[in-house]
Amino acid sequence: MLHTKCVWQFHDKREELADVFNYFRLCTNEAIRISDEKNLTSRNTMHHELYEHLRNNSQYYAKYVHGSISVAKARLKLYRATKKKKPNANRPYMKRNMITLDNQTYKIIDNHLRFPIRAKQYIYIKLASYVLQKLESAKLGSITVTPEKLVISYSMEIQQKNPHSYVGIDRNLDNATSFDTNNKFMIYNLKKTNDIKQKYRQVKSHFKRNDARIRKKLFTKYGKKEKNRVHQLLHNVSKRITSQNQGIILEDIKGIRKLYRKGNGQGKKHRGKMNTWSFYELQRQIEYKAKWNGLPVQYVKAHGTSSKCAVCGIKLVPEEHRVMRCTVCKILIDRDENAAKNILARGLRFGPNAPQVEAMKQFQDAESIVASQEDGQIINIPMT
Ligand SMILES: [Zn+2]
Repeated sequence: MLHTKCVWQFHDKREELADVFNYFRLCTNEAIRISDEKNLTSRNTMHHELYEHLRNNSQYYAKYVHGSISVAKARLKLYRATKKKKPNANRPYMKRNMITLDNQTYKIIDNHLRFPIRAKQYIYIKLASYVLQKLESAKLGSITVTPEKLVISYSMEIQQKNPHSYVGIDRNLDNATSFDTNNKFMIYNLKKTNDIKQKYRQVKSHFKRNDARIRKKLFTKYGKKEKNRVHQLLHNVSKRITSQNQGIILEDIKGIRKLYRKGNGQGKKHRGKMNTWSFYELQRQIEYKAKWNGLPVQYVKAHGTSSKCAVCGIKLVPEEHRVMRCTVCKILIDRDENAAKNILARGLRFGPNAPQVEAMKQFQDAESIVASQEDGQIINIPMT
């Protein structure tokens, strides 16, 4: 299967790019406006209707017209989807300085990215060695250029592996807990992500000035900082999880935010915490990293994974400190460990790539796995 990824680097500010950015923005916004008014949806009709018009008033390279139509198309698609839910949504307007280049427009020559800014007039940007290394055997996709960054998309044919072991992962507010078919039990500490979020919530609540513009600007800045720090932490965790060469089994927790709505009997603080929980981000990272490594990712139903005994299936009795007790098996078990075991067992049992006989065998394995007890290793991920 072909998988796509991005790599980015900074570059020095180039004066020559300012006019190109302006032109690209103008083209994109024109393309958005006209396509919206005339209700153009396909790339071909957009191209047919817009190309001459956008091409006419420029001395710039025609390829930018193609790029701007692609960007306009993507923005319009999002806008049309939003409009179904919110009929008053405003038509998108691109304010950012950026251009996108398709792989026909640029070339990589002598470790430099080369693209035209006018007919037969080129700009060269030196590519960092880590970028060149990543692109070495990859198929190159489009490149986005902003005043300070290059974002290069590339794809590779990934050979699907058939892993020898599988790991079930239970995601919680404070940790991700894993249990695998080698009986290894791990806890990845995510407490810091909540500390970061808590800190930014406090900072924001101290903002008292009654100026919507400054408020928005400041909150956007905080939001970006918060996101970067949290994502960095999650990257460390998802990297560790996906570097073990194991098939991954996750809970399907779609719609989980609905569980934490006003009027569900939970306190405001608890709801706030749960609703900012970055489970989707961790899931997204694990999924794309696993796929990039050729490892299968499976989703299983979340229902009952944390409340039912992983050995006998009976409803557990909660004790103190997230410990659960099974009245049938007469055992005490950590709530998250039990959930990870349940997730693993479900994934092995209903795994789509396991043949019937194999599935039965794996299920027996799973049953013996979940019956065994082993101490978990707690991993604290350092902040970077
Ligand atoms: Zn039991």
